Amino acid sequence: MDATLRTKDSERQMSPTESTQHVHGVVKNSVLQTLLDYSLWPLIFFGALIPTGVGIAHGHGPLAFNIVFFSLAGLLFVIERLYPHEKSWLHSDGQEIPDLAHTAFTKAVVQLLIVSLTWLGLATVVGGERGAGFWPNEWPMFFQVLLALVVAEFGLYWAHRVAHEWTPLWWFHAVHHSSKKLWFFNTGRFHIVDTLKSVVFSAPLLALAGTPKDVVLWFGAITAYIGFLTHCNIRMKFGVLSYIFNTPALHRWHHSMDLREGNKNYGENLMIWDLVFGTYFDDTKRRPPVEIGIKDAMPKSFFGQLAEPFRWKKFQAAAREGKATKELL
Ligand SMILES: [Zn+2]
Ligand SMILES: [Zn+2]
Repeated sequence: MDATLRTKDSERQMSPTESTQHVHGVVKNSVLQTLLDYSLWPLIFFGALIPTGVGIAHGHGPLAFNIVFFSLAGLLFVIERLYPHEKSWLHSDGQEIPDLAHTAFTKAVVQLLIVSLTWLGLATVVGGERGAGFWPNEWPMFFQVLLALVVAEFGLYWAHRVAHEWTPLWWFHAVHHSSKKLWFFNTGRFHIVDTLKSVVFSAPLLALAGTPKDVVLWFGAITAYIGFLTHCNIRMKFGVLSYIFNTPALHRWHHSMDLREGNKNYGENLMIWDLVFGTYFDDTKRRPPVEIGIKDAMPKSFFGQLAEPFRWKKFQAAAREGKATKELL
């Protein structure tokens, strides 16, 4: 990250006009605006959880989840335009088709995997009506969901961390980090191998813990909603929430090209394992970088991105020699 750019970012953060410049008359009072900044994340998160919970309680969990998921996407699209964190991220990066294709492809493959496992009778090991083994069925649902989140998060944390610290896995994860802006739409931009690796690291933990079906549903919904929120380009403030949840502020640091900031905050939903293993990073005095992405070359197209990890060294060498620059992101 260029030092001058970073200084400009910090100056913008310090500017006394900052509190009123984004709002265009939506909220004029800075006290009200601060209140809005702090309320948006919990309002959206719990606003999504309540109808999901009603659906799960009435036996229509998957339907409720899908309705909330697409409504939330629409809502975030609108709020990003009315109340953006970073205006320059509102411009197209030309990656809408690859973003959508990765999201749809990984979702389809994971669904197919679940259906196949159910067909083979393996899915009954996880996701029975009641928890198996030592699972505390008698606990209130809130604590059962919290337990599932903490258990799965351990796997998700390490799946993410090894993808940053072990080069061959980084080649796959680089697809996600090649985005030059953050918005709700690129939440699902993951190479299929990268997604499957996260499933392999986390699903067996939930299975071993004997997690019941409704708790797995809750876990899936929370992961999807927090994922949308961590990538959204909405002006928000978090305070103590950033010590519990993976908030946009923390994830914007994670997308920094400066690895002292980028190789931090590996949590998917919760920050507990980052705090335990010393990879937690936040700096509330500075704005996270606006210029994000990777230093390596990345193809522009969906199929190019799918193939890229399998021919990484060749591809990078060709990019360094200036070949096929038109295809590069
Ligand atoms: Zn990452
Ligand atoms: Zn991300």
